[in-house]
Amino acid sequence: MTYTIGHYVGGARLAGGDRSAGIFQPATGAEQGRVQLASTEFVDSAVQVASEAQRSWSQLGSAKRARVMFKLREIIEARTDELSAIITSEHGKVLSDAAGEVARGLENVEFCAGLVHHMKGEAAEQVASGIDVLQRRQALGVVACITPFNFPAMVPLWMVTTAIAAGNAVILKPSERDPSAAIWIAEAFTEAGLPPGVLNVVNGDKEAVDALLEHPEVRAISFVGSTPIARYIYETAATRGKRVQALGGAKNHMVVMPDADLDAAADAAVSAAYGSAGERCMAVSVVVAVGDIADALVEKLAQRARTLRVGDGRDATSDMGPLITQAAKDRVLEFVDGAEGEGATIVVDGRTQDLPEAGFFVGVSLLDNVRPGMRVYDEEIFGPVLAVVRVETFDEAVRLINSSKFANGTAIFTRDGRSARQFEVAIEVGMVGINVPIPVPIGAFSFGGWKDSLFGDTHMYGPESFNFYTRRKVVTSRWLEASESQLDLGFPTNG
Ligand code: NAD
Repeated sequence: MTYTIGHYVGGARLAGGDRSAGIFQPATGAEQGRVQLASTEFVDSAVQVASEAQRSWSQLGSAKRARVMFKLREIIEARTDELSAIITSEHGKVLSDAAGEVARGLENVEFCAGLVHHMKGEAAEQVASGIDVLQRRQALGVVACITPFNFPAMVPLWMVTTAIAAGNAVILKPSERDPSAAIWIAEAFTEAGLPPGVLNVVNGDKEAVDALLEHPEVRAISFVGSTPIARYIYETAATRGKRVQALGGAKNHMVVMPDADLDAAADAAVSAAYGSAGERCMAVSVVVAVGDIADALVEKLAQRARTLRVGDGRDATSDMGPLITQAAKDRVLEFVDGAEGEGATIVVDGRTQDLPEAGFFVGVSLLDNVRPGMRVYDEEIFGPVLAVVRVETFDEAVRLINSSKFANGTAIFTRDGRSARQFEVAIEVGMVGINVPIPVPIGAFSFGGWKDSLFGDTHMYGPESFNFYTRRKVVTSRWLEASESQLDLGFPTNG
């Protein structure tokens, strides 16, 4: 039975768009549904609905808005299995991993339940004679959230929850490859008491994205996806005077120092490299082996990589599922094909493993002796390929990482506090793990990389997100007696 996914506008599912795209089941390779692709006119009508709804939503008491978040939390927690099954069916990741992404998305719902606190302004009494100053936070209006395929629930929950908590209305444009989780989330919001039109899901491709970028009533754009599209979104939205945060791709390095516990480091690297088939923006894709431990470390990585079971994400014995599309699979195989010619050593070969016949499955690859200048090092592969770069010293490791154009996450494994601290201070990367391979900050902090991994200046979710989704207004007030008034053409000073 195939299905059709339309849109969710004004609190109801809606059909719309002459064009559609296939939704595949990565585990079988079969087209399981179609998603309708919105036209520019459809986007415009959704923005009108959102704009109308936003006016009353932003005027609702903030304690009432917070209650929606509490209720949403209950709904998602109680029905995590349902949402996880949807994610696995369209994305392919194993069920436990899908549940993990839901849990990380829930953290932000929990943070947003404290919105009365996060929306508080500031005040200063008597800054000059009889003058008080206060700063309010106000919502922007309608904002657009454009999300990638690899976290079809978590990234939408990062963005839309905060935007809504801050009093905005949202147009969510999820990835057309796995759009069902976004519709599920929108329906859960409605069930939690969110008024119709505050959260709208518009499915589509470039046409819908461009319509959002051009629309004068869309005040801000939050984007997560690949670097070339992130750059395009940032430049286009900024030119049109919109607030924009655009998170891009990654190439995350994990440094292993000679003093590290090599078994713990190998466990961490293999888990972080091949989890979700490497389709995580925080996946470890490069291990930097420092000094004379490289041979021993590569051996430990290879032993572990060879034990991984690649299979259907719905099968509890699978460690790793398929990739998202046939094109993604072909791309990964092309990188592995090219690696040997470039001088890398293929230690574990993902092309020769036993895999299910149908579906977009790829085995895990471990490549040694990788260097900058090789395609497997320079480009984001976004698949189950782990590269090992050998360096002599800590300083060389730091220079290598700081030379990368990507700067999302990084980690160091060491038993030495001094190297750990030096790394923490010197490394030019947005999120750093000390003996933690995937340092995604908890919900009370914000998430974001540097350089080509993030265009804009605000990180996502947490406190920075409340800044992104609000405007600050500063009010200076004085209450004079009529007799105190006088004519004064001088520039006001704080005397
Ligand atoms: P993508 O860039 O192909 O797509 C992201 C979104 O942009 C989708 O909604 C898509 O419909 C839209 N889009 C695609 N092409 C477009 C175009 N030409 N014009 C306008 N819109 C377009 O990314 P993806 O393949 O869905 O996701 C994987 C990428 O996302 C990886 O590069 C990964 O590193 C990155 N990612 C980054 C983070 C982060 O936090 N930095 C998090 C998750 C994913």
